Amino acid sequence: VKRRGRNGISRFVPQLRAAPASMLSLRGRMSRGLERDEFFTLFQPIASVRERRIVGAESLLRWRSSTGEMITPAVFIPAAEESGLIVPLSERMMTLAFAEAASWHREGRSLLMSVNLSARQLREPDICQRILAIAAEQGVSPGMVQLEITESVLMERVEQSERQLLQLKEMGFRIALDDFGTGYSSLAYLKNFPIDSIKIDGSFIRGLSRNVRDAAIVRTIINMSRDLGISTVAEGVETAAELESIAALGCDFYQGYLLARPIPGEQLAQLLD
Ligand code: C2E
Ligand code: CA
Ligand code: CA
Ligand code: CA
Repeated sequence: VKRRGRNGISRFVPQLRAAPASMLSLRGRMSRGLERDEFFTLFQPIASVRERRIVGAESLLRWRSSTGEMITPAVFIPAAEESGLIVPLSERMMTLAFAEAASWHREGRSLLMSVNLSARQLREPDICQRILAIAAEQGVSPGMVQLEITESVLMERVEQSERQLLQLKEMGFRIALDDFGTGYSSLAYLKNFPIDSIKIDGSFIRGLSRNVRDAAIVRTIINMSRDLGISTVAEGVETAAELESIAALGCDFYQGYLLARPIPGEQLAQLLD
């Protein structure tokens, strides 16, 4: 089973601790990169399984450093979380993503913009007001925005996270549980948190057409979500066979290279009818 996200973080952090000098330089480069506007976001469309129609997109950060090198979020997000830079970095990302969402809205399209929220952000006491303020600045209503959180986000300071999420939910933001199935105690979170959507991790989708165990797990997640009134998104759909499989299981939405890679906003606009 290939894992990303949370697992990537736990693999990266010990390395950083072993090499504080390189972390310092990475942090320094990131903070300079922020000042110099080296970060930008790509958008990966999300479509309905039934009609194959694009219903929204996920904003994914990219860093083109001053040396011209493209640095992947798997490298800089864990370091940004460790150093606290994730907070300004994510505010920059949300500004760009919400500006894009506003441009969709001006063209009369009702698409959902998904952004990733890190554990560190939910620890900021005024995070709800700040996200709401960025949305307002860009002219986006909270109902057009989905906040993606992983289970590891919820595992830290459970009560505070729960309070913040409830507040975001009351403001009208939608909440998605990201990388579903790769963490722990997923079901308890479904019981206690106001989740609108579940994103089934790509590692389960990968084996779907060959592996009966993956199929059983995905089927169970989809059936349970339906009973709970939660929508499902299959992540990392790469082949037509995988799309067929999730369609047969009744999955609502999909995202992955089969539909499109993460692309610049202008390119996404061209994909919209
Ligand atoms: P994620 O939220 O699970 O995002 C999905 C990742 O899967 C993206 O990698 C995307 O490019 C990749 N992907 C999409 N479709 C396919 C596919 O069909 N096959 C395969 N093999 N991969 C696919 P990316 O863009 O490198 O982002 C990696 C992770 O970095 C994200 O995982 C997310 O956890 C984190 N990240 C990215 N942007 C942000 C951000 O703005 N804030 C925070 N907190 N985290 C971010
Ligand atoms: Ca992930
Ligand atoms: Ca995500
Ligand atoms: Ca994911």
